[in-house]
Amino acid sequence: MRKKIIAANWKMNMTVGETEGFFKPFLIEIGSEKRADVVIVPPFTALAKAGEILRNVQNVKLGAQNMSAEKSGAFTGEISASMLRELFVRYVVLGHSERRTIFGETDEMVNKKTHAAHAATLRPIVCIGETLAERDANQVEAVLEKQIRGSLAGLSAEQLTETVLAYEPVWAIGTGRTATPQQAQDAHAFIRRKLTELWDAATADKVRIQYGGSVKPANTAELMGQPDIDGALVGGASLDPRGFAEIVLATVKLAR
Ligand code: PEP
Repeated sequence: MRKKIIAANWKMNMTVGETEGFFKPFLIEIGSEKRADVVIVPPFTALAKAGEILRNVQNVKLGAQNMSAEKSGAFTGEISASMLRELFVRYVVLGHSERRTIFGETDEMVNKKTHAAHAATLRPIVCIGETLAERDANQVEAVLEKQIRGSLAGLSAEQLTETVLAYEPVWAIGTGRTATPQQAQDAHAFIRRKLTELWDAATADKVRIQYGGSVKPANTAELMGQPDIDGALVGGASLDPRGFAEIVLATVKLAR
């Protein structure tokens, strides 16, 4: 059984003060729940405060939204894996569609970052997903295969099992338009088949694949109930502490 993993991608939202304000109600709502892994992914500026708040909290981990593939040096504006580790960061989101489309990140760049994350024992959450035009042109599987081959190239089976994938159809991110549970399940099953083909069945069976794209409390149970959906990467709805706690609690209910 794969343990579900629910992550809150705050994007460029939440000041240090707002981060403190989030955790008070959120930690009360989720209590000691640990049937799912919960990851909060604040902007870089709020990581230190979030790490301080979570220092004695066992069931909520910290993630970053991006990182450099380089170790250190003349890379103005970049943040390294070891800088993140120093702040008790455990996960790092890589290749989010906003990084790919707005900042020009390629599969090759995502691949370098994925290897750098593993080298620093950070767990990457690697995002893949098609645009609406690609879906309409029946290219979903071709796009996912290209992203899987490119972003995950050269990972050992062990590294792959420590990697989380996030299937995020670009047309569903921040649009209020969610993939149907069947559309999401079909994409997840395809991704797992591809991992089986490129690595092996036992490895593919262990990899957790999150769904992302307008997940909210009302659609969580249906999406998370699909056999190949192992969690959610939540943007907009993760900014509300009670709403995000509801998403976590609706997910763990399925584990009963
Ligand atoms: C995301 O940013 O990864 C995301 C899925 O956003 P939203 O939940 O707002 O669609």
